[in-house]
Amino acid sequence: MRLTVLGSGTAAPNRRRGAPGCLVEAGRETLLVDCGAGTLDRLLRAGGDPNRIDRVLFTHHHLDHFGEIGHLLFAAGLPVHGRRKPLTLAGSGPLLASLRAFQMLFGHWLMPTGFSLKLHDLDEEPLVGEGIRVSGYAVDHIPASRALRLEEEGGAVLTLSGDTDLCDGVVTAARDADLFVCEASFPEGSKTPGHLVPSEAGALARRAGARRLLLNHFYPECDQVDMASPAAAAFGRPVELAEDGMVVDILPAAMKPAS
Ligand SMILES: [Zn+2]
Repeated sequence: MRLTVLGSGTAAPNRRRGAPGCLVEAGRETLLVDCGAGTLDRLLRAGGDPNRIDRVLFTHHHLDHFGEIGHLLFAAGLPVHGRRKPLTLAGSGPLLASLRAFQMLFGHWLMPTGFSLKLHDLDEEPLVGEGIRVSGYAVDHIPASRALRLEEEGGAVLTLSGDTDLCDGVVTAARDADLFVCEASFPEGSKTPGHLVPSEAGALARRAGARRLLLNHFYPECDQVDMASPAAAAFGRPVELAEDGMVVDILPAAMKPAS
């Protein structure tokens, strides 16, 4: 499984860090996780193609995670440059309700033209694709928020927290994950409800038994301080910090040398 960080930032415009979005290649599928402003541009720069994405998975529909889905659907319907491949959009029930309302607002511009579009409710059942299974776990941010657990058939497990505060749901989602991508929106000492600081992300990863922790979703002030050390102290292992364009190969536990 391979993760490419497209945007390691937040809603705050930031020259260094784009709004949330990740490309995941897993099983025989190509997935986009969240689709904030600028995601399509950064996907192209990373060598991807919006028309080749099989699924877009959403953690929630705050606009930093969701804002560019209108552009993706509109572009997908273009006569020459649009897509032919089927597309699935997946998220929680409340998220899909908002997505449907958004489509109604813009009418045919956001309805599929030339390709088939499915909406998949992760609250009803996991999404089972070509060699990949995706489950959603309710987390403490907004009612529509879900941490996403991606399991490759016979392979690695990747969990993405989305935005969350401390809660059991994210620990369950990240149980024994080979890579846990966890938000750490604000520096230590700047706790903001609905989000995590690095030591909290580290503690969640430790509770979950995650093998590797990648901190993500940084407001600009995070780049003025040491975010890694407090997380590593709580996790009990080194941690990594996401950057736009970063590529991470995720190996299942059995393929790693014993440490
Ligand atoms: Zn966010």
